[in-house]
Amino acid sequence: MGRLDKDIVKPNLLLVVSGPSGAGKSTICQTFVERHAAELVVSCTTREPRNGEVPDDDYIFISRDKFEQGIKDDRFLEYAEVHNNLYGTPRAPVDRALDEGRDTILEIDVQGGLQVKKKMPEAVLVFVRTGTFSALEERLVGRGTDSPEVIDIRLHNARKELEVMDQYDYFLLNDDLETAMVDFAAIVMAEKCRIERLTLSADDEHGNKTAVSGNKED
Ligand code: ADP
Ligand code: 5GP
Repeated sequence: MGRLDKDIVKPNLLLVVSGPSGAGKSTICQTFVERHAAELVVSCTTREPRNGEVPDDDYIFISRDKFEQGIKDDRFLEYAEVHNNLYGTPRAPVDRALDEGRDTILEIDVQGGLQVKKKMPEAVLVFVRTGTFSALEERLVGRGTDSPEVIDIRLHNARKELEVMDQYDYFLLNDDLETAMVDFAAIVMAEKCRIERLTLSADDEHGNKTAVSGNKED
């Protein structure tokens, strides 16, 4: 059967969302999963929970010892030291979400994003930023979750994060949230329509439709 006889199946994506603290990554990712069928993977961290954060929902909060054991056991797809704490993406839920066909989002820092791109080049890397640096500071202060010392560390790191932006696939300007959400959805849809990601359905021996990579077929 030639490729014209088969149904086109839109692929599910691994999306990495990074950017300086305060740029709006959490807001954008949370809003995206509320509006679309996508999974936001919960990271592990050694940092203390903030007021209002729900363990295992916002983060899996673990000790440094337990985190280091996880590294030894190869349980992380990526991990990094960020703002003096360890953060990492557990491998198992990512594999599960991708195998089950869901768009899968990792909200992680740039060091982690580049590690993911190396291991999984098909990942789409999106860098969230504000138009101006002062907007970041205003948002961090306005969020009211961090002490002045922590805000200073985050602003210092923000300058370093911005230098990595050109290794990402897309930038997402988050000055107006609704505009950013439209742009994010457009990035996702354009990536799903790339010819190199084209997937065709095939009937298996039981007559069920399964997805197969089809772009190498005639
Ligand atoms: P990050 O996850 O990148 O650190 P957050 O999503 O926590 O950033 O956003 C930081 C603060 O800025 C929060 O108080 C959030 O409500 C606010 N915020 C996010 N996006 C916008 C926006 N487009 N305009 C104004 N405030 C925003
Ligand atoms: P916060 O402490 O504000 O929740 O997050 C601080 C930074 O750590 C943010 O840039 C966030 O994206 C990043 N981060 C959160 N989870 C992970 C993770 O699993 N891996 C990496 N590398 N960074 C993460």
